[in-house]
Amino acid sequence: MNSIVFCRYCGEQILNTAPNCQHCKSEQHLPSAYGGVPKKNAQGVFAFIYCLLLGVFGVHRFVYGKTGSGVLMLLTLGGIGIWWLADLITIIAGKFEDADGNTLSPIF
Ligand SMILES: [Zn+2]
Repeated sequence: MNSIVFCRYCGEQILNTAPNCQHCKSEQHLPSAYGGVPKKNAQGVFAFIYCLLLGVFGVHRFVYGKTGSGVLMLLTLGGIGIWWLADLITIIAGKFEDADGNTLSPIF
């Protein structure tokens, strides 16, 4: 099924089936979806930056397809910071999952 998602890196709208973003050329599908070992740094660092700067608005959740909890996070301002902090720690620990259940690569 084709639907519009946001590029994990530049935020442009792309098809969810596109392997690469046509705007910034970044690979969209996480290696763990194919049983591979996630590359360290890139995805985790992007998620960390999104979460750190805009996390109270749930932006990192929108970026990774978790729209429902993203809206909830937006409305509660990141659970008044508590949920935001929990997500930040989850991302740093490399345990954050996208909407498809793929774990983002760890930062360290
Ligand atoms: Zn892009």
